[in-house]
Amino acid sequence: MFKNKWEQWMRFLRNDIGIDLGTANMLVYVKGKGIILNEPSVVAVNQKTGQVVAVGIEAKNMLGRTPPHIIAVRPIVEGVVSDFEVTEEMIHYLLNKAQTVSKKILGPRVLVGVPSGITNVETRAVRDATKNAGASEVHIVEEPMSAAIGMHLPIRDPVGNMVIDIGGGTADIVIISLGGVVSSKNVKIAGDKLNNDIISYIRNEFKIIIGEKTAENVKTCVIALLSGEIPLETKARGRDLVTGLPKEVMVTDSDIRDAVSHSVEALIEAVKEVLEVTPPEVLSDIMRRGVYLTGGGALIKGLSDILSEETKIPVYIADNPLTCVVRGTGIILEKLEEYKDILIADENDISNKT
Ligand code: ADP
Ligand code: MG
Repeated sequence: MFKNKWEQWMRFLRNDIGIDLGTANMLVYVKGKGIILNEPSVVAVNQKTGQVVAVGIEAKNMLGRTPPHIIAVRPIVEGVVSDFEVTEEMIHYLLNKAQTVSKKILGPRVLVGVPSGITNVETRAVRDATKNAGASEVHIVEEPMSAAIGMHLPIRDPVGNMVIDIGGGTADIVIISLGGVVSSKNVKIAGDKLNNDIISYIRNEFKIIIGEKTAENVKTCVIALLSGEIPLETKARGRDLVTGLPKEVMVTDSDIRDAVSHSVEALIEAVKEVLEVTPPEVLSDIMRRGVYLTGGGALIKGLSDILSEETKIPVYIADNPLTCVVRGTGIILEKLEEYKDILIADENDISNKT
């Protein structure tokens, strides 16, 4: 009774905020409001003064167009906090946005999603950055776990659930049962790697240099891992290697298949490796229940079919794969006490030690 009243008061006084701190996109959920922000994880920094000039979509639009002293950085590289101060500024920006949407007196309680397999030092960095950015309480959850919860998979049941979260910097391949991770692998083959594959391929085959943004556009427009009846094609503009002048070429789905084939094979290999070390009972659950794809990479056309063919397991694409993690944080925040055991414990918090 007393606890309920206390909780009601706290709800009134402080926000509960969920953050998906992705390598490509950052999303924010505010309890009672839903997803209030979905922007690229980019920060523009003035190198002369060290000041942050812009964050999110505004900073992304500056990518490749900044004067020399302003650099646009992605502070989370390959799923790891590469620049602590900039990450802190970024989280500060996110919390500020959340606090403007829903004004509260006290500092918010924040749940942050981090990639699986992150080290203690990295977790601490995220925890500290969030605290310094104004949070009164910080909780950390592994992104694939949050994604599984966001997809409403029965993670607490004694059955194996397999989730593959393909983001910008990394792909997380995890098997969850009884609220814990049974086996997992984190590989650096994801959206950014495919973009780089496309840049190299176009340089080698067409002798033009394209930028990252162009590569990303080409990828999302024409990537198809299985050839269809109607070929897909799109224009790519870049700089001619020989003349140094602008040039435009047509790129097809077949080009992109060639460009990314190595990476796709390596990704499939990684999935097979996880399956190989999974206990037989759990494996049989997964064969029956299937594999769930999430993250932006789940939208790669043909990936689910190829994975299914290679592993002989049904593969499903999550609804709204780009928002699974942040929706999961929203579900966890509703019943934080109940979910305490699946969160990454704070090694400084004595109450968590047993
Ligand atoms: P992160 O969690 O690391 O921030 P996301 O889950 O937001 O990553 O996914 C971003 C990645 O998904 C980017 O590399 C982007 O290019 C890729 N992506 C988004 N949509 C598509 C699509 N339709 N086809 C292929 N890749 C896509
Ligand atoms: Mg992600």
